[in-house]
Amino acid sequence: MSYDFATYDKNYHTEADVVVIGAGIFGLSTAYFLSKMGKKVIVVEKKDVGSGASGSNEAWVWLSTRTREVLPFVRFSQQFYTNIEETIGYDVEYNNCGGYIIAESQEEMDFLAKYCEQRWKDGLPEIHMIGQEEFHKRERGYSPHVMGGTYNPLDGCVNSILVCVGFASAVRDLGNEVWTKTDITAINLKGKKVHEVVTNRGTIRTDCVVNAAGSWAADIGKLVNVDVPCKPERMTVLVSEPVAPYINNVSMTGKYLLDELNKAEQAAAAETGEAEASAVYVYTQMKKGNLLLGSTEDFVGYDRRVNFENPKAIAKVIGDINPEIRDKKVNIIRAFANFFPFTMDNNPIMGPVPGVEGFIMATGLNGGGMAIGIGAGYTTAQYCAFKETHFRIDYFDIQRESLWK
Ligand SMILES: Cc1cc2nc3c(=O)[nH]c(=O)nc-3n(C[C@H](O)[C@H](O)[C@H](O)COP(=O)(O)OP(=O)(O)OC[C@H]3O[C@@H](n4cnc5c(N)ncnc54)[C@H](O)[C@@H]3O)c2cc1C
Repeated sequence: MSYDFATYDKNYHTEADVVVIGAGIFGLSTAYFLSKMGKKVIVVEKKDVGSGASGSNEAWVWLSTRTREVLPFVRFSQQFYTNIEETIGYDVEYNNCGGYIIAESQEEMDFLAKYCEQRWKDGLPEIHMIGQEEFHKRERGYSPHVMGGTYNPLDGCVNSILVCVGFASAVRDLGNEVWTKTDITAINLKGKKVHEVVTNRGTIRTDCVVNAAGSWAADIGKLVNVDVPCKPERMTVLVSEPVAPYINNVSMTGKYLLDELNKAEQAAAAETGEAEASAVYVYTQMKKGNLLLGSTEDFVGYDRRVNFENPKAIAKVIGDINPEIRDKKVNIIRAFANFFPFTMDNNPIMGPVPGVEGFIMATGLNGGGMAIGIGAGYTTAQYCAFKETHFRIDYFDIQRESLWK
């Protein structure tokens, strides 16, 4: 039986094949697959399981807008979710409900039609266009000005904190350990090789460290003098009281997609203080009935507070697209903000780091970790165990030019 390491004995010594830093979806899924591969793994987490982005987000398992490079990971994750309860022994409330990107003008409709064609070329033939009449026949509650848009039957949602807790218990059931509330004080090298991880709960001798610290991955990089081009992007979301089943799909507007495609420009503007958070429409209904309504995204460092402007802007956008939610006066019970690991090219950073043998990157899931994370974790585990991967990992090299623009 394995357990959270109970004492704070800094003189304790142990060893592991791999130390994974961070108990979010990336770290926990990597640890899970490593455990299945028979490796001794310790996950080291500074707070709690799922206390980063993976435990509180908009909950989509979304394929429609994920980049071409990560599509194999996303497909792997989506398949994994369909059997996750049998596989890890935990119900994570996965709902393969399908998803829309909706258009509010003919211009957006034309843009989405072209986008759809591009997605087919990228390897996502399931996505297709739905016209205005068909859309309103299928879906109630949307403003009549919504013109339809893309639909993808593979999109869905999940209860993200249950995903984290489920993976952590599976790691423990497989005989490995998750150390929570643990501070890492050093990663010691022997020559240019990883040698040990020093924490306030003791020292772990290991040849391999996975940096899955999400938005904090750059801090872990500093421990071994590695620059990690990843920073926190804040997202704010509203949560409603539970209501009867309403819209049956996850949905976003074309404006969200356009913002996604222009993210690098926004990040650059944030550096000069010129960026403003603008609200875009994002909708999910959880199995328990709560609506997750979003969202705004901004770059404010590690400030997790909810300000006054962002929820107001979100409420306006939601009212414009789903007037029923506003008019029926669905009560908003809270708002939360959290940040995810942003990279300049919207793709993860994965694999080895030149110059520090045994230091493996696993961050940069951006706004898509619940969908990308399980496939990316599987690939990272394969790399650590065999130095070979089923899906391509070279796209995600820390030295690629597009990260350092
Ligand atoms: C509001 C919001 C909405 C989102 N909506 C969606 C969505 O609908 N669908 C989707 O797919 N994605 C969504 N995302 C993105 C998704 O949540 C992230 O991509 C994903 O959770 C990142 O996972 P991660 O494991 O890399 O990082 P995290 O979950 O942040 O995990 C990193 C962990 O590392 C730990 N850590 C940090 N420093 C240290 C240290 N020094 N020592 C030990 N541990 C450390 C942290 O405490 C944390 O637990 C959203 C994100 C936000 C913020």
